[in-house]
Amino acid sequence: MDKKSVDGRESSKERRERQRSLCPVFGKCGGCQFVDMPYKAQLKKKQKQAELLLKEYGKVRPIIGMEEPAHYRNKVHAVFAFQKGRGIVSGTYQEKSHRVVPVESCLLENQKAGEIIQSVRELAKSFKLKAYDEDSGYGLLRHVLVRVGHITGEIMVVLVLGSPILPSKKHFINELCKLHPEITTILINVNNKRTSMVLGEKEQVIYGKGYIEDELCGRRFKISAKSFYQVNSVQTEALYAKAAEYARLTGKETVVDAYCGIGTIALAVAGQAGKVIGVELNKDAVRDAVTNARINQIRNADFYQNDAGRFLTQMADAGEKVDVVFMDPPRSGSTEEFLDALIRIRPERVVYISCEPETLARDLKYLTGKSSYRVQEMTPVDMFPFTGNIEVVCLLSK
Ligand code: SAH
Repeated sequence: MDKKSVDGRESSKERRERQRSLCPVFGKCGGCQFVDMPYKAQLKKKQKQAELLLKEYGKVRPIIGMEEPAHYRNKVHAVFAFQKGRGIVSGTYQEKSHRVVPVESCLLENQKAGEIIQSVRELAKSFKLKAYDEDSGYGLLRHVLVRVGHITGEIMVVLVLGSPILPSKKHFINELCKLHPEITTILINVNNKRTSMVLGEKEQVIYGKGYIEDELCGRRFKISAKSFYQVNSVQTEALYAKAAEYARLTGKETVVDAYCGIGTIALAVAGQAGKVIGVELNKDAVRDAVTNARINQIRNADFYQNDAGRFLTQMADAGEKVDVVFMDPPRSGSTEEFLDALIRIRPERVVYISCEPETLARDLKYLTGKSSYRVQEMTPVDMFPFTGNIEVVCLLSK
């Protein structure tokens, strides 16, 4: 017996057993860190961490948590591998390695998506498809990605293959759709590079329309395979509501939505602004954003494919007037080029949405050091329960 359990406290072995009873691959998968922590305690921990990193820049309001935190992920990914004695397995990479940990079910993921992944794996076995081997480059099946429309229930399945031909394609599609009639579209994505990136360049629609639609903030959005879409739909609405509250739009403003993805923020606030301008690097996402404006009959929104920093610099050079800037960069944060242009454009308010408080702190340090912009307040929103990730929305003004 471990020493600690004598005094009634849980031993490390007991703790591990309890964790494994909640998730059989806890500690191996690395996808979440807080499986066995009560949700309230998770929120408290994130609040503290956000305060630690950010309070020197302004007030951190209480974190917005979820009511039902399990199975929030609308996008689920699995990697395939061949393992001796088990055949083809599907799961996730072990943390900091390329070893595949087989996963049967997951506390974070949409359950239907998880079931579809199991079916793809079992069908792959019966169709005798080979899993792609990262070391040799041989084999076909690399990854599967499933996206579920939170409101619409539309489902996209992306089969990521090492080469473009799926043997018995028609039969495979029929069998998969027979098992899961909820699937609305299936794509093949070809990734023949020796890379840890999931998706390759080329894609081919083999069933349905090639994208899904979902609803968010009362609007409808087309989402392509390669476009970014927030993985936690419930919390995205809470996040955008807070961002819109911070923006205090009156209907007249010129608004920039930088790092706009498929245009969700821009289109959610377009009705409260004079004009919205979205900028995004990913071509497919920009194409989706343009379509999304049309689907929602929004006529005061324009979208541009460009690097956000370069685009904003061009706007500053042209002397354009902007009242409010939303910025929602990837984890690496924004750039000095972007922030310098922001300072030159001098918008009334800046709403910075960040999925990585460390790069947010870095950018706030730069921005507040170089200009009279100050943080008015910040609100963490728990977009990723059971994981250590923290999302923060931050209001700055001069
Ligand atoms: N605001 C959107 C997307 C946020 S994710 C939403 O809430 O859904 C960040 C986005 O920034 C991604 O779509 C990514 O493709 C885009 N991106 C990454 N680097 C960029 C850059 N240098 N310039 C413009 N967009 C970029």
